[in-house]
Amino acid sequence: MLKIGDIVLVERKAESHERGWRNTWEKGMDSVVGKTGVVIRYNKLHRNVHIKVDGNIDGYGYPDFVLRKFKHAAGMRITKIKRAGGRSGLKIYAEVSGAHGKNYLVGYFRRNNFRGWQCTCKNFFFDAFKKNRNCKHIKLVRAETGRYGGGVPE
Ligand SMILES: [Zn+2]
Repeated sequence: MLKIGDIVLVERKAESHERGWRNTWEKGMDSVVGKTGVVIRYNKLHRNVHIKVDGNIDGYGYPDFVLRKFKHAAGMRITKIKRAGGRSGLKIYAEVSGAHGKNYLVGYFRRNNFRGWQCTCKNFFFDAFKKNRNCKHIKLVRAETGRYGGGVPE
């Protein structure tokens, strides 16, 4: 059950009035799929949720059934997560907002000669990668999405 202050991922688009949602899906909402927001208002009867995305109050209402509750551990939170395509071998792409307002990029790569997670933080870059370990940002993304990123929006 959602409550004010929860961090939620917008997992997918919805059909207008889908599953009893008393609202319509607008074009402007498409770009929020794959991002996380903070719940600021929830009308359970209408299944309609207002969220704050990128620090701004988004004017749209989202249906509760496309929102997945995310944890936020120790001041970190995932702000964006997507499946990536193309030839780079990048399969999952996430942005994590860390302590001190810093943002880190986390990715899961699958290439012929490399398969695994990468993060742009210093700890991973200079230490954890060498020791074949994951940093706390990668651990957070994996904890939310599963080892191979099941349930990550397209
Ligand atoms: Zn990291």
